[in-house]
Amino acid sequence: MSISTHQIGTADFTELAIRIADGHQLTEAEALGLLATPDADTTRLVNAAGLLRRKHFGNTVKVNYLVNLKSGLCPEDCTYCSQRLGSKAEILKYTWLKPEEAVHQAGLGIAGGASRVCMVASGKGPTDRDVDRVATMIGALKEDHPEVEVCACLGILKQGQAQRLKEAGADAYNHNLNTAESLYPEICSTHSFDERVSTVQQSQAAGLSPCSGLIVGLGETPEQLVEAIFALRALDADSIPVNFLMPFDGTPLEGTWNLTPLACLRILAVVRMACPDKELRMAGGREMHLRSLQATALEVANSLFLGDYLTSEGQDAKADLAMIADAGFVVLGQQGKDPMQLAAELSEAAGHAARQPSDAGNAGSSGCAGSCCSPADSSPCGSSAPSCGSGNGSAEPVLRRRGAGTAQSPNA
Ligand code: SF4
Repeated sequence: MSISTHQIGTADFTELAIRIADGHQLTEAEALGLLATPDADTTRLVNAAGLLRRKHFGNTVKVNYLVNLKSGLCPEDCTYCSQRLGSKAEILKYTWLKPEEAVHQAGLGIAGGASRVCMVASGKGPTDRDVDRVATMIGALKEDHPEVEVCACLGILKQGQAQRLKEAGADAYNHNLNTAESLYPEICSTHSFDERVSTVQQSQAAGLSPCSGLIVGLGETPEQLVEAIFALRALDADSIPVNFLMPFDGTPLEGTWNLTPLACLRILAVVRMACPDKELRMAGGREMHLRSLQATALEVANSLFLGDYLTSEGQDAKADLAMIADAGFVVLGQQGKDPMQLAAELSEAAGHAARQPSDAGNAGSSGCAGSCCSPADSSPCGSSAPSCGSGNGSAEPVLRRRGAGTAQSPNA
């Protein structure tokens, strides 16, 4: 039976989810039909997609934690990114963290329940020396926390670099497709969609778990959104982060607000229906776009980033852990442990995190000049986040002024 746009009735959502659980692959027409679900019926769509989430992931939430190893100063021109060439966003700018600082920052996220640490650096792609530098960090982190997954996100890879990261102990590699191939020339002129696809494939061939996702709200049509989702499905990435555009002031997409909380839920539900057994992560921008529906989104997404993003500040980590507990979910790897206990431990860990400026990596001279608050971006290569102060519940991205590259304790 073919189902065309607008023909999926609310009673059919569950039937469709059951068929997908039995092996049916969502079609493009069905995906378009789901995206066109009226606001009033979106909760039913979420509940149906939630059946697939529960089938594959139960009530667990995988917590990821970002460490921004190198911030800003990128020669690429991705329009959504606060770290792009010519960005006027007043983000932290610093070159590589020292390995001990990177491991320290990662440890704080792990104390908050993170089972995966994402080590991210701005730029088109790493040199071999950069890869060696990150390999050293990964080795040190694995020595302290052998149970934790490490995902590297360093941009477009050259021959042999994925293998080097794998040998160093990396578990995964993130490189987002971000959007549809048909829209790509409008959001970036300095590299191609094909280069992104190739990097994901290289990481996969090297035995790294591929992670690749989206930034939505760039101005894509529903057809382009479906095109991007189906490109991700074809890549067979193990995990799919969905970022919601944070339109940082000082970037070309400043002032671009295309999403509503219910539209965000529909997008997550379609990704779940298209890729039912993949790790689906609600990523940067969830706070400002999903707003009070973040807990509802956990019915579809089985993962989130804890704490801050690359250049912007996220929701308070303890509030995230409370949200997980309140909604009846448990942190993956911490089953049986009260998320509020985790929050207390996290708070204690953060208390030990205050550092002298001289200890704060090599960010001092190039980083934040101190005056807060212009927005930041949606994040690069894969992740995102806002700044100054709470970062929580703010409509605008809040620029990050704590954690990696600063002398301030992170939001971990
Ligand atoms: S997304 Fe990555 S490659 Fe593009 S401008 Fe930002 S840091 Fe550079």
